[in-house]
Amino acid sequence: MDSIEQTTDVLVIGAGMAGLIAAAELQRSGRSVRVLDKGRGVGGRLASRRIEGATFDHGAPGFTAIHPWFATEVVQARLNGTVTPWTTGSTASLSDLRALRGTPSMSAVPKQLSRGLDLQLETTVTDLRVHADRWLATTASGHTFASKSVVLTAPVPQALALLNAGGIGLSLELRSRLDAIEYERCLTVMAVLEGPSRIPSPGGVILSDGPIASVSDNQAKGISTQPAVTLHATPAFSLEHWDHDRLESGRILLAAAADWLGAGIRTFQVHGWRYCQPRNRDTEPCVLVSPVPPLALAGDAFGGGGVEGAALSGRAAAQAILALEAGSQRA
Ligand SMILES: Cc1cc2nc3c(=O)[nH]c(=O)nc-3n(C[C@H](O)[C@H](O)[C@H](O)COP(=O)(O)OP(=O)(O)OC[C@H]3O[C@@H](n4cnc5c(N)ncnc54)[C@H](O)[C@@H]3O)c2cc1C
Repeated sequence: MDSIEQTTDVLVIGAGMAGLIAAAELQRSGRSVRVLDKGRGVGGRLASRRIEGATFDHGAPGFTAIHPWFATEVVQARLNGTVTPWTTGSTASLSDLRALRGTPSMSAVPKQLSRGLDLQLETTVTDLRVHADRWLATTASGHTFASKSVVLTAPVPQALALLNAGGIGLSLELRSRLDAIEYERCLTVMAVLEGPSRIPSPGGVILSDGPIASVSDNQAKGISTQPAVTLHATPAFSLEHWDHDRLESGRILLAAAADWLGAGIRTFQVHGWRYCQPRNRDTEPCVLVSPVPPLALAGDAFGGGGVEGAALSGRAAAQAILALEAGSQRA
């Protein structure tokens, strides 16, 4: 076996909203926690990109804060200064948040939430298995991390692949629940324009027909000094064009959005989200795959969905692990 890195109480796989919240909740409860993510930055689907001086939110363009815990404990307390109400464009009332964006851009949100966490990026977990009373997670670079508990927040098909690789058994009922969770894909175009777009303030429009699901103007939204538009394709268009030439698909989408753009295109890039949003979700806020040693699945496929649902799922997974520990100490 490869050398084992320091053992922690909990290993969190994935530094998106669910993983960051789970890690913070467990660390606040005095547990040692390590977070691993395969990405170059934190945030997963909360993502921003810079192209030729323009800034784009190319994952979730915004999110809600409706649940009282999320609105007060996360948004008001931990994210103060890194979110702005998006519907009004005003920071006047942080107690009445419904639609929010990250500031200066969406990636500021996960960066803020990851402060103080033991985080290792560009680390892909390729194998997860039980050894004695511990979880052992092996990475693509051959390192092994040991922990007493695991919170796994990868999109469900990726989580299932890890469980299968490690020979982790699931009941038939749980396997069929998890197998039923499917995700929509989303082709996303980021276009730097030669002048301001025609997308009206506050810079986001949801469309009801054609190949585009939504258009956002990152300049009107307040995150880009340069004219910069993000187009999210519909699930149907994204699925049909997934294996096509990405720039060609981008040109089709830009042509369909011409009335919204209203200015020449300086340059553009296309990103494909294989796991954009779950088409159907599990009703439980998290799933306990194993009580001994504990392994919980969390993410936007559990509970309410979206960014807020992912946060609530991460919190539920942390609570489930703490409750199991408390139960085993009483026994
Ligand atoms: C285009 C788009 C538009 C959206 N619009 C909205 C919106 O308007 N409102 C809203 O609320 N939500 C929206 N969402 C959804 C929202 O972004 C997600 O629901 C939420 O961010 C999911 O968080 P998560 O932590 O569950 O998953 P993720 O953010 O996907 O995090 C999972 C993390 O796990 C990591 N990972 C996976 N496998 C491994 C592995 N083997 N080893 C290590 N790390 C691994 C990934 O790198 C990733 O960082 C949108 C998403 C997209 C893509």
